[in-house]
Amino acid sequence: MEENKRVLLVHPEISRTKYNFSGVIENEPLELEQIYAMLRSEGYEPDIWDGQVEKEAFSAKLRRIKPFAVYICGRTRQELFMKEYCRDAKELGCITMIGGLHAQLSYRRFLCGYVDFVLTSFNIFHIADILRGKEPKDSVCIHRGDRWCIRKAVPFDINELPLADRTYFYEHSDRYRYLELLPCAHVRTSFSCPFRCSFCCRNRMNCGTYSVRDIGDVVDEIASIKCDNIYFIDDDFLFDRKRIRRFIELIRQRGIKKRYVCYGRADFIAAEPVLMKELKEIGFYYVLTGLEATDGRHLDSYNKKTDLLINAEAVRILNSVGINIMGMFIVDLDFEAKDFRKIYKWIKKHDLKHAAISIFTPEMSSELYEQYKSRLITRDPSHWDYLHVVARPAKMSVKKYYMYYHILLAKLFIKGWRDGIYDFLDYGFYIKSVLKNLFKFGG
Ligand code: SF4
Repeated sequence: MEENKRVLLVHPEISRTKYNFSGVIENEPLELEQIYAMLRSEGYEPDIWDGQVEKEAFSAKLRRIKPFAVYICGRTRQELFMKEYCRDAKELGCITMIGGLHAQLSYRRFLCGYVDFVLTSFNIFHIADILRGKEPKDSVCIHRGDRWCIRKAVPFDINELPLADRTYFYEHSDRYRYLELLPCAHVRTSFSCPFRCSFCCRNRMNCGTYSVRDIGDVVDEIASIKCDNIYFIDDDFLFDRKRIRRFIELIRQRGIKKRYVCYGRADFIAAEPVLMKELKEIGFYYVLTGLEATDGRHLDSYNKKTDLLINAEAVRILNSVGINIMGMFIVDLDFEAKDFRKIYKWIKKHDLKHAAISIFTPEMSSELYEQYKSRLITRDPSHWDYLHVVARPAKMSVKKYYMYYHILLAKLFIKGWRDGIYDFLDYGFYIKSVLKNLFKFGG
């Protein structure tokens, strides 16, 4: 009988409710495409199933292709779907592997009967080892009978990753987008982040070790991608001035004409107006910046190492060079009504056109989680999406908190509509649904 070499690589859907931003931002499953490339070179027959874009149900695909192994990744909010799919695959006798960002930091949540391996680093070559029957020496939890063997995670050098096989992305290029940038391909140039903001878990990825790709390889990859929009999914792309300068040189030398999205800190932007102008010239379109707060007390308590003047200067510089700055804010659980209003006023005052608001969420497996444990109002991981209140607010009821949060969102949608941004959005739908949510949550 022919040996079964089929492996199903799975990224579950983000949510099964309408309370999310699917259809507005849809992320290419880059990690799965890298695993796909690696497995093919090892002689396996991988297949990708991304719940964001697939029309065929997961269980139908599983039963149709009958893989001998599945690998499932996702974030905290996808945990229940990851487990559901893993259980389904185990019932069919597959080897089951869990990996990805959530599993890396919260592997204990996956030590279940239907999971065989939990991978706790970015080392995707461990997947091939497992399929060959060889147990990785590190960065894995192995299910043996009724106990688990937990092998310590070690950092991985990002330069060892294979290039993604983007066949799946090209097949679904009508879906993968960042706002109006459609299609939009993902490129990763680093793991983890050198900063230590207290609310963020990204700096603990890769065992807290910042690992950076050779910038020449990054430019080669960009040139090879058949897509005009590139989203650098690094936690902080604008970190090393020299590296960014080299990047600009290489893009210019090669005459590459694309539009780019990246994350960058306000202090870097504020200190580098000339570099920002040059980034605009080579195609930088959106820079996503964690402004976080409109008062110094919160910025300090988040260990952000920036201040309000720096934030204002970053917005001014990007506005003046013509790069869209997407300012990201946190509404803290100690907010009073006036604090929600203050965020809106700051956005208006500084002419910030694009803003995203997250509800303060103590990440699982973090010190903050322990600190907020007694205040948790839900244990449902799907609520760890920054759109739900997961711990009791300090100064008002959960219902009131949601109300002020949704009023802020409604005001921002109306402002966006008036400013003429996101023309592709059905504003009527979003404004109506935010208003409908005003009194719906927290009852
Ligand atoms: S918020 Fe941004 S800068 Fe701060 S640790 Fe996280 S990724 Fe790094």
